[in-house]
Amino acid sequence: MIIVCNNEGTKGIPVTARMLSEGARGLDAIEAGIRVVEDDPDVRTVGTGGWPNLLGAVELDASVMCGSTLRTGAVGALKGFTHPVSIARQVMARLPHEFLVGEGAARFAREIGAETGDLLRPHSRESWQKWFDARVKAEHQKSWADAPLIDYCQEAVDPEIGKDTTVFLCMDSHHDISSATSTSGWGWKYPGRLGDSPVIGAGSYADTRYGACACTGAGEMTIRAGTARAVVLYMKMGMSVQQAVEEAVNDMRALKGGLISRVTIHAIDNRGNHHVVAVNGTPENYYWFWVPAMARPETRPATVIQISDDTPKPRSVDSFKA
Ligand code: ASP
Repeated sequence: MIIVCNNEGTKGIPVTARMLSEGARGLDAIEAGIRVVEDDPDVRTVGTGGWPNLLGAVELDASVMCGSTLRTGAVGALKGFTHPVSIARQVMARLPHEFLVGEGAARFAREIGAETGDLLRPHSRESWQKWFDARVKAEHQKSWADAPLIDYCQEAVDPEIGKDTTVFLCMDSHHDISSATSTSGWGWKYPGRLGDSPVIGAGSYADTRYGACACTGAGEMTIRAGTARAVVLYMKMGMSVQQAVEEAVNDMRALKGGLISRVTIHAIDNRGNHHVVAVNGTPENYYWFWVPAMARPETRPATVIQISDDTPKPRSVDSFKA
């Protein structure tokens, strides 16, 4: 058994570890862990308390993947529901589809009686308001809902450096491998923008025959590089988990233009090995790790790899902190 989750999984991983030790199925255990993170308003990039889009609304993305059936469930641009990871799980369990977005995802969430709540909390509302007052032209402020957003979208900001989507990977006592993600995505994003977290193959992928991978950071990069699927495919082709992640980093070196920023790639193989690389990260980037021999989950530093980047860096949301 093994669990790897990112820094945002601090409060969730003890729940996942306890459930796995007690024999729970991996998907049940990682869904439960992520629900704890989604409920924590202090995690400003996931669930309740997440960052809003340009219009000031919180839109959530989430996904799950069962590596033994290769079934997936994902939701994107979902407003007003507090546990998108569980809605994604129910897409997998109850529909012949894999991915629902926007109004359709909300309709499905209502139909299954998913929990609702106010996702925009005072800290995020105040940061957004501060940005709005400082950056939105007076002529647009009056009719913001209908204003042109393309230029403002260039202001999409990096959710607090080192604070990301939450991603969980695990292999359970049956050797089944699974992955799950949940996020509010980038702050001040264009309404309807999907990051990589709900895009299976970009932000996550799991295949019990080989391993699993999940990413955080600039989803635009992992969507373009197909990162999570690539890492698992490289393992299928015979690479170690470390080589597979490094090869996926090499793929990112080919990306030119667009949003080039930070990405953290988390991966496990089917023998209990793991590797985590923070592309353009900092030495503070860490992740959580647990195997049954440990009394409790522990943090480990990610391996930092810089790739060349001559495009302008997005600003940190810190500059708009209320
Ligand atoms: N990967 C997420 C996205 O692009 C954001 C993050 O991990 O911070 O929406």
